[in-house]
Amino acid sequence: MSRKMTIEDVDFRGKRVFCRVDFNVPLNDRLEIEDDTRITAALPTIRYILEGGGRLILASHLGRPKAKPEAKYSLAPVAPHLAELLGRPVAMAKDCIGAEVVALTRKMADGEVLLLENVRFHPGEEKNDPEFSRQLAELAEVYVNDAFGTAHRAHASTEGVARLLQPAVAGFLMGKELEYLSGALAAPKRPFVAVLGGAKVSDKISVIENLLTKVDTLIIGGGMAYTFLKAQGVEVGKSLVEADRIELAGRLIAQAKEKGVSLLLPEDHVIAREFKADAEHRTCDNSDFPADWMALDIGPRTIAAYQKALAHAGTVVWNGPMGVFEFDAFAEGTFAVARALAESQATTIIGGGDSVSAVKKSGLEERMTHISTGGGASLELLEGKVLPGVAALTDK
Ligand code: ADP
Ligand code: MG
Repeated sequence: MSRKMTIEDVDFRGKRVFCRVDFNVPLNDRLEIEDDTRITAALPTIRYILEGGGRLILASHLGRPKAKPEAKYSLAPVAPHLAELLGRPVAMAKDCIGAEVVALTRKMADGEVLLLENVRFHPGEEKNDPEFSRQLAELAEVYVNDAFGTAHRAHASTEGVARLLQPAVAGFLMGKELEYLSGALAAPKRPFVAVLGGAKVSDKISVIENLLTKVDTLIIGGGMAYTFLKAQGVEVGKSLVEADRIELAGRLIAQAKEKGVSLLLPEDHVIAREFKADAEHRTCDNSDFPADWMALDIGPRTIAAYQKALAHAGTVVWNGPMGVFEFDAFAEGTFAVARALAESQATTIIGGGDSVSAVKKSGLEERMTHISTGGGASLELLEGKVLPGVAALTDK
């Protein structure tokens, strides 16, 4: 990836700045903000632009409106909340395009903030319609993207408008995501270890294929491990197996061998009679897996082997829990990996929605180098894809 311009490369004084943020916050029935993490995450970028004398126009989506205005998806509740966080007024626009909004932007003074209404109230947003992009671009003179979580979507506010408003630069949140996720893949400190888990092989094929060309060690756990074990002829009882991916798993094992990548699979398991939080459970080895039980976590010997492989890593990328961590009885494998990462000197990077929840649940969040804010976007980076919202930014 070529290096992209960031907000530190721009003088914002007196400029109207179109800043795409991720204010897709959860609202309750009374339209109150349930969790403002995404708003606070954008504050460094917002403050930087305002302190630099920019006239800040904020754009975001919220929820999944059907390409028309819907009160329950209005961004209006965000304006007063953001005003309180910033300690300065935040004006709310009734729409995100049109003559009235243009007029509002022309009246702005340096350091003022205008929040646009939900960009997904218009069909042109998700279609990346050129005319809609042009109407967005008309509002401002500079483009900033700080919405990493939607950078894998080529929408008007993430891609189309960036092509029209130059310079188009990365905000702090976006810059940090790219620095760690792309940086780790491009120039990892070695040994480079990837830990992959989660539910299915089919969700992660491209991630595995891409990482196999980069890592020294690939650790596999979680539901996807059982398709790999099956490919090696191990009996896995009623564990999650994708019958139509067994052959592929076999090929990936062969590929790892050819490339000299050390591939680690579970040797023992925490098995249960059924998929339930309070299911009867015990441990077993690969050699004595009972036919009518299912594996819901990796076992203690596997944990020890994985911890050993992680102890001297230079870089660790982790996506996908090692077991059904949502159930306490099957969370130990995932938490043990989290502890191994917390204790290691490596650069540790975690991506993926459930993996991030698992790390938060483990209480070790603060001890990781980087926790990605974008589930889908981080997976696409790990797959080696170029994100459209990033590609559209101006090269350094
Ligand atoms: P991420 O969101 O981090 O990319 P995934 O969505 O791929 O992760 O997978 C997360 C899910 O995988 C979790 O809900 C977890 O319960 C499930 N899972 C992990 N191990 C197993 C297993 N052995 N059997 C069934 N499901 C599993
Ligand atoms: Mg998930």
